[in-house]
Amino acid sequence: MLHPDLVLRKSPISGKGLLARRMIPKGTILWVPSHMRVYSTSQYDKFTGPYKALLRKYTYEDEKGNLIYCTDSSKYWNHSCNPNSAPSAPDEEMDMAVRDIKAGEEVTYDYVLLWTRGDKPFKCSCGGKGCRGTVRKEPSGSRTVRRIYAQSEKARRCMNKVRQPLLKG
Ligand SMILES: [Zn+2]
Repeated sequence: MLHPDLVLRKSPISGKGLLARRMIPKGTILWVPSHMRVYSTSQYDKFTGPYKALLRKYTYEDEKGNLIYCTDSSKYWNHSCNPNSAPSAPDEEMDMAVRDIKAGEEVTYDYVLLWTRGDKPFKCSCGGKGCRGTVRKEPSGSRTVRRIYAQSEKARRCMNKVRQPLLKG
């Protein structure tokens, strides 16, 4: 489920994206798991080429190798090499703003964390600071991955000080 202030719009990065309707402060949870379909490897193997391509574009892989497809707009979350969101913690399935997201700004995530079997390195034109140019699979302890988790650890300190519409009740 997406934060209520994220709306689907034309993306300045690629295709459609999720833009903030108003400022969303650092530490805000932006997504919690819901509206998901889970495909096992054997289910995936039975699909035809075009459907496999669609699944590869819009899914991510969980730790068991299943493909997770979000049926809501969260699948339009675009990549940036300098993203403003990240997992709230390495072992938590929630995403959080790691800095203040301005009104009108697109919410982004580093796809290095969403690498799916069969994904190929892709050229990036995110325009983010430190854009890697080509995004490729990296080991879990890579500098990029460590930087992402260091950012989310800092942002967690703000979690209890900000409005959390997704954590109510
Ligand atoms: Zn980039």
